[in-house]
Amino acid sequence: MEKEIYSHSKLWLFENCPEAYKIKYIDKKFPELPKSIEAFLGGMVHKSLEWLYREVKEEKEVNMDDLMKNFANNWISNFSHDLRINWGKSEDYFNKGIKFLIDYYQKNKPFNDNTIEIEKKILFNLDEGAEYKIRGYIDRIVLNENGEYEVHDYKTNDFMKTQEEVDADRQLAFYHLGINELFGQQAKIKLIWHFLAHNKTIVSRRSQEQLEQLKKETLELIKKIENTIEWPACGKRYCDWCTYKRTNRIENY
Ligand SMILES: [Zn+2]
Repeated sequence: MEKEIYSHSKLWLFENCPEAYKIKYIDKKFPELPKSIEAFLGGMVHKSLEWLYREVKEEKEVNMDDLMKNFANNWISNFSHDLRINWGKSEDYFNKGIKFLIDYYQKNKPFNDNTIEIEKKILFNLDEGAEYKIRGYIDRIVLNENGEYEVHDYKTNDFMKTQEEVDADRQLAFYHLGINELFGQQAKIKLIWHFLAHNKTIVSRRSQEQLEQLKKETLELIKKIENTIEWPACGKRYCDWCTYKRTNRIENY
């Protein structure tokens, strides 16, 4: 039987709220929750950077103004009034996005780093039998002058990670395995996270031993999910599902 495909965020949901996982992936009855303004901001910044590199790939010159206009147009045409804003105003988030892009533009122009893929889908097997698969998307792939494949991923939230956290991150390791699948086991790979809110990048690498260990742990996690019969709610304040439940309960009284 064809097994289900997993992703970093799907595994993350199980690890953080088993009940939410069950509702979303097993019962498939997850309610349509309004998107948070942070998620919207992230989406719009990604969209503009994607556009920027596609233009550059077609040998068009993009100045800072063009990028600002692209972002403003995306923001206006995709904006919805039911976005969840926990504090501040939507303009604050728009201005944040503008700042991320100005900083990124100044730091990375003229963007001629030999980008070979933009928004690239990856899919790889965790086991020899090819029963368990992981899927993901890489923001951008560069083949640099040293012949290394660089994975570029943009983070737009406020949290700045430490080198140790980045070195232990599962999502980045999955990107490494995805690049191996696309370009071969011999590919030299460099993982780069852009923390746009801090105008900083962190570079990380994985060894074969680390990757084998990660595959083993991920298979164990998937088997645990498949054998789970009880799905407790996490009760965390920012869990969408638990929040949803709490507000529903209040309305029912
Ligand atoms: Zn929860």
